[in-house]
Amino acid sequence: LPILNFFRRNGVLPTGILIDERFLDHRNPGRHPERPERIAALLELTRGLAPERFAFLKPRPADQEELLAVHSEAYVEEIAASRDRDLTILDPDTSAGRRSYDTALLAAGGVLTLLDAVLAGEIANGFAFVRPPGHHAERDRAMGFCLFNNVAIAAEHLRRWYGILRVMILDWDVHHGNGTQAHFYDDPDALYVSLHQFPFYPGTGAAGEVGKGEAQGTTVNVPLRAGAGDPEYLDAFRRVVEPVARQFAPQFLLVSAGWDGHENDPMSGHRVSTAAYTAFARGTLALARELCDGRCVAVLEGGYTTASLAECAAAALAEFSADDEAGGPLPEPGAETPPVDEVVAIQKRFWELPA
Ligand SMILES: [Zn+2]
Repeated sequence: LPILNFFRRNGVLPTGILIDERFLDHRNPGRHPERPERIAALLELTRGLAPERFAFLKPRPADQEELLAVHSEAYVEEIAASRDRDLTILDPDTSAGRRSYDTALLAAGGVLTLLDAVLAGEIANGFAFVRPPGHHAERDRAMGFCLFNNVAIAAEHLRRWYGILRVMILDWDVHHGNGTQAHFYDDPDALYVSLHQFPFYPGTGAAGEVGKGEAQGTTVNVPLRAGAGDPEYLDAFRRVVEPVARQFAPQFLLVSAGWDGHENDPMSGHRVSTAAYTAFARGTLALARELCDGRCVAVLEGGYTTASLAECAAAALAEFSADDEAGGPLPEPGAETPPVDEVVAIQKRFWELPA
């Protein structure tokens, strides 16, 4: 495995960081919010981290078979053909330049590099700072700045190579991950839990979208109106995310980590503080340690103000690399909130949830 910088600290495994200057190569035209500067800010951040706590990994490209576990052959060919043109418009928000396809292969493959390192016992957990992002990408459709669905490809990799069927995906990006939900909607062994602004782009993610057939209950949507922030997020974590995760009992936890609901990020109407996002990272890792030997890999989705993006990423990395006993309890939500009441009322058909 291409680990460039690998240390064990008193027998504690490092946190893997997957980042690469090649993630700067995908460019959208004009003043697009999903821009290379996002990765530049994270490159600068990660260069300053204490080397004894982190292992830096380089991505490999995803292969065709890995892409085809989630996308159609015609779609992969369509994206590959973008290499031959300066600009391919895929959707009103989403485009590809000559180097976007290769960058997207590295984004999807980079997450797999981290999974392999976790399962080889070389890192405890990991963060994939990749672009383009993935959770809006559908089987045969690019949208919402996303080309390939990195997190769905990752879940399928766990199944194919490791026999890990029960995978939980926690998506705290402020947008609903329609592509991820669609891929797993009838799959009872994949739990998709999303907190997002609603109604909002892309339009999906109502609380009543719960999965289909035997998979009912394994899609858990927490739609939150504009203006929501720390109280709703922390309430949802306590009353929905934690109990559902414990009952589902995943073998691996994946995170679609977007920080575009941050109070300083103009992309959305949510007002989540850095402290609440930090609590999410701590609580997620605590669930992974409790339920699946700490196996957890987070994948960058949104986050468009580079200052708050880097601040939240730094705080999450500190949580992921902290010792078991560090951190302390999550902050109190303060109050039970009506939108979470609604989710509890719907999901208690499938899970035992506190009233
Ligand atoms: Zn987003």
